[in-house]
Amino acid sequence: MERLKQQLQAEGIAYRADEPLAAHCTFKIGGPADVFALPETEEQLCRVIALCKEQGVKYYLLGNGSNILFEDAGYRGVVIDTMALKMGIGFLEQVAHPGAAPGEVYDAVVAGAGLKLSSLCTAALENSLTGLEFAYGIPGTVGGAVYMNAGAYGGEMKDVLQSVRYLTQDGDIVEAEAAALDLSYRHSIFEENGGCILSAQFHLKRGDPDAIKARMNELMAKRVEKQPLDKPSAGSTFKRPAGAFAAALIDQCGLRGFRHGGAAVSEKHCGFVVNLGGATCADVLALCDEVRAIVKEKTGFDLEKEIRVVKA
Ligand SMILES: Cc1cc2nc3c(=O)[nH]c(=O)nc-3n(C[C@H](O)[C@H](O)[C@H](O)COP(=O)(O)OP(=O)(O)OC[C@H]3O[C@@H](n4cnc5c(N)ncnc54)[C@H](O)[C@@H]3O)c2cc1C
Repeated sequence: MERLKQQLQAEGIAYRADEPLAAHCTFKIGGPADVFALPETEEQLCRVIALCKEQGVKYYLLGNGSNILFEDAGYRGVVIDTMALKMGIGFLEQVAHPGAAPGEVYDAVVAGAGLKLSSLCTAALENSLTGLEFAYGIPGTVGGAVYMNAGAYGGEMKDVLQSVRYLTQDGDIVEAEAAALDLSYRHSIFEENGGCILSAQFHLKRGDPDAIKARMNELMAKRVEKQPLDKPSAGSTFKRPAGAFAAALIDQCGLRGFRHGGAAVSEKHCGFVVNLGGATCADVLALCDEVRAIVKEKTGFDLEKEIRVVKA
């Protein structure tokens, strides 16, 4: 690890040692990372990964930390903050789209992996491009959203994603069409291939900016009304089981407000586990186990976690 730190310093790649991970995730939980790397360019990002591999140090690619739970022990290795990347958005006008109806015009938008989805959605609105309204309130980055195939209100990344540029485990930079990424419910091929998403290209249709803005505002208002946005969480804790909704099952079992230490099933939305203040990773995991066991016993449904636990 000391050698790796020296190399990062020598190559001018910013990092912090023993960085508390609670400060870098929406759950506000997690101990220190040995090294928290802040690459500002794609080249630096690829270099950090190459150096980790050379030194046999494990690394973790972090977006906005809105779907993950770090352990109380933190992370023994390098957490790479993709939000440190200084990458913007590019627009390519009038691209061919296989699903286009006669007269429909699509533009392509290319966004860096570390860019927040909300910024991408705002840029789409400013350019009168429709298709991303569903994603406006999802508090992730472009990379995290592609990795998770994030979705809401009837839309998902799969619907608008055209292609992804990524760094393979072998160190090659490749471009893959969305159809080759095995995008399904909260899943992409990156879960298996370990690739590092560098940028993504979306195809968006030209639309009416007033209608786009109205839809974004409408969906945001629904979130504010229904979700516990005032408390730290990682969004929906469990995946939607086939034929049911996790939140409804948890509510049906009388678990609204159910607590373990500082973690609780949200009083406002049973699908969210929230940090009431001072919750540990152990609290959240114990609560999830208890909820899962009770729901299984009372309803027969076996809930699977949507949040990803990052092992120390
Ligand atoms: C209040 C709230 C509401 C939410 N609502 C929704 C919702 O409506 N729909 C929904 O789908 N999700 C929702 N989420 C969950 C979360 O916002 C999404 O899953 C989001 O896409 C995660 O993005 P992120 O950048 O935070 O990723 P992170 O949580 O940082 O990481 C998630 C996964 O992506 C990987 N990853 C991140 N960046 C890269 C990269 N560049 N290359 C390769 N792998 C990478 C990480 O290693 C990790 O495995 C919500 C969360 C909160 C807190």
